[in-house]
Amino acid sequence: MTEGDPASSWRRCSSCKKPIGFGAGFWVCNVSTCNRPRTGLVFCTVSCWDAHLSVVNHRESWAVERSAPSREQWAREQAAEAASQTAGAASTPSGPRRILPKPAPPAPDPKRPREVLIVASKFKEYVRVRAGMNTSDRCLEALSDLVREHCERAIEKAREEGRKTLLERDFE
Ligand SMILES: [Zn+2]
Ligand SMILES: [Zn+2]
Repeated sequence: MTEGDPASSWRRCSSCKKPIGFGAGFWVCNVSTCNRPRTGLVFCTVSCWDAHLSVVNHRESWAVERSAPSREQWAREQAAEAASQTAGAASTPSGPRRILPKPAPPAPDPKRPREVLIVASKFKEYVRVRAGMNTSDRCLEALSDLVREHCERAIEKAREEGRKTLLERDFE
């Protein structure tokens, strides 16, 4: 049996045409026109779902995680559908995960000066009080880089959970 054997896979990804196996996870679009029972688009990855956004024109959309039925389940569903053509095949699995489209992160411009994100006076004062030391200005740049780094990771976490708000726990 090859990977593309219709008997070994449930459906094919609407973007890259890779087979989606029975019981495998896949993604659908939240937009109803993309999601009709018969013609419903299915995607093997969020990036394949992302790809269809360049073809369609959704105002607001996100990917919804689903699981393909097992071969047995699928056979049962097909049989049930054949028995009653009117019964919609739109089964709603519990707890779908929403994933928002990834806006392209702004490319860091190497020519741009490293922006300082630290309040210089507060930081210098803190070091002076804490240790009686002076602080070189370059410390502010280095610290800002660290903040950016942590921020990047937190943003990624929030994005993975489909949030638009950074939370304290994203920095843990
Ligand atoms: Zn795909
Ligand atoms: Zn769509």
